Amino acid sequence: MSDKYDVIVIGGGPGGYVAAIRAAQLGYKTACIEKRINKQGKPALGGTCLNVGCIPSKALLDSSWKYHEAEGAFADHGIKVGKLDIDVKAMQERKDKVVLQLTGGVASLFQANKVTWLQGSGQLKANKQVVFTPNEGDEQTLEADNVILAAGSVPVEIPPAEVDQKIIVDSTGALEFDAVPKKLGVIGAGIIGLELGSVWSRLGSEVTVLEAVDTFLPAVDKQISKEAQKLFTKQGLDIKLGARVTASKKNKNSVRVTYTDKDGEHEETFDRLIVAVGRRPYTEGLLSQDAGVTLDERNFIYVDNQCRTDVPGVYAIGDLVRGPALAHKAIEEGVMVAEVIAGEHTQVNYDAVPGVIYTHPEVAWVGKTEEEVKESGEPYKIGAVPFAANGRALAAGEPAGLVKFVVDEKTDRVLGMHVLGPQASELIQQGVVAMEFGASIEDLQLMVFGHPSLSETVHEAALAADYKAIHVAQRRRKK
Ligand code: FAD
Ligand code: AMP
Repeated sequence: MSDKYDVIVIGGGPGGYVAAIRAAQLGYKTACIEKRINKQGKPALGGTCLNVGCIPSKALLDSSWKYHEAEGAFADHGIKVGKLDIDVKAMQERKDKVVLQLTGGVASLFQANKVTWLQGSGQLKANKQVVFTPNEGDEQTLEADNVILAAGSVPVEIPPAEVDQKIIVDSTGALEFDAVPKKLGVIGAGIIGLELGSVWSRLGSEVTVLEAVDTFLPAVDKQISKEAQKLFTKQGLDIKLGARVTASKKNKNSVRVTYTDKDGEHEETFDRLIVAVGRRPYTEGLLSQDAGVTLDERNFIYVDNQCRTDVPGVYAIGDLVRGPALAHKAIEEGVMVAEVIAGEHTQVNYDAVPGVIYTHPEVAWVGKTEEEVKESGEPYKIGAVPFAANGRALAAGEPAGLVKFVVDEKTDRVLGMHVLGPQASELIQQGVVAMEFGASIEDLQLMVFGHPSLSETVHEAALAADYKAIHVAQRRRKK
């Protein structure tokens, strides 16, 4: 095997492995360098997302939701269960099986597409040279016409709560608890904190979420975030806003946390503490002194709209670069870069990247919030309808939440869609499609939606933007 490739990808997460497969599909001799060793001690593809992120967290969210339903909601359906019990070990084994199936699937796709998986670390040097240090064996210098940096991100650490992965854990440790903590603290009310807090709360933990900022989910449309906060609080998450953690002291089996809020300093003791204060680009060891790529002020690798770095032929994608740290954004950037290399016309529409929080109900959004549009000063209209008016939602016992559209008053274009409710992660795709096709709200109003379906609330919300909703009483605003 020669050491010259058309494309070398460093990092085999959703950005990197997709970029490698797409490059190979386009006929390029492609290698992907990935150093990850999984918890079974084996080399693994799939990155954060498949190994310690999206997939294992969703497996635990689904298991814990089933438990929660068996505990309460089943009775509403007339289903009686005997004494309920939880086998955390079995739950974790199921999660691990899902992860192994998916990461093994990526390895098979590499084989099928003839992508060479180099197991070890990669470092970019000048002139598109890459130093490859195998997990076992000697360092080699490889050359490539194109290099794609896809090394992803790692959890942010904060001095007041040093992670030991036993009592104080990051998101990876929080996916591995072998028992349900009685009292669980979570630092950070972002997506990861809320999802992991929900898992253990459903299984019986008393969960307190400490969030430094005094607004709940500041990036989410306010009407949705206000409603979500109420629902999550009702479910048992004690969300303390404006509460900044300043210190912690570990004991043998617990940790005492100090935080400050507007009333002063407080202390609380937890059996376990999850630190979920964000993620940062993982550039350690990735770039040699002479690599030549520029970092921005937040240490992301600087790229243009098509993920080109300042070095011709070197690209960077996913969590390493600006934009939301989401797997689907990394995936689409991976596809785009492979196609840019092939000289194809291609792009990622950064205005239509959906965001999802997999709580219950789920929160999902795409495009602009009402607050953003209001601030722009442009005239807009809103269509918002609750799931409580939807037959399918009621039949399923899922009446909480709403669908909301933000629409340009002058052009009738959909500017944003926001959902709090059952299957929000699936429903939001209707907003993505609408925005990608430049749909007017009238286009959505004129479509036929299957009955009964949750999607009918999308339809009703579109109708509501022009005071035409049938299943909710609407009074026209006085102009
Ligand atoms: P990564 O997935 O981080 O992959 C990068 C890979 O590069 C890693 O495997 C690393 O080992 C490897 N690497 C790094 N440096 C080198 C080197 N020098 N040499 C060789 N290999 C290297 N996103 C969603 O969209 N939906 C979700 O539901 C979701 N849930 C999440 C839940 C949790 C708990 C966490 C932590 C994250 C979640 N995310 C979710 C975010 C998502 O995981 C990331 O956005 C995504 O994984 C980024 O993909 P990436 O390819 O850029 O990097
Ligand atoms: P995200 O980046 O969306 O995962 O959210 C992380 C959250 O953690 C942000 O909302 C931060 O405000 C919050 N955060 C960061 N540091 C602290 C701290 N010391 N105490 C409490 N919350 C924090």
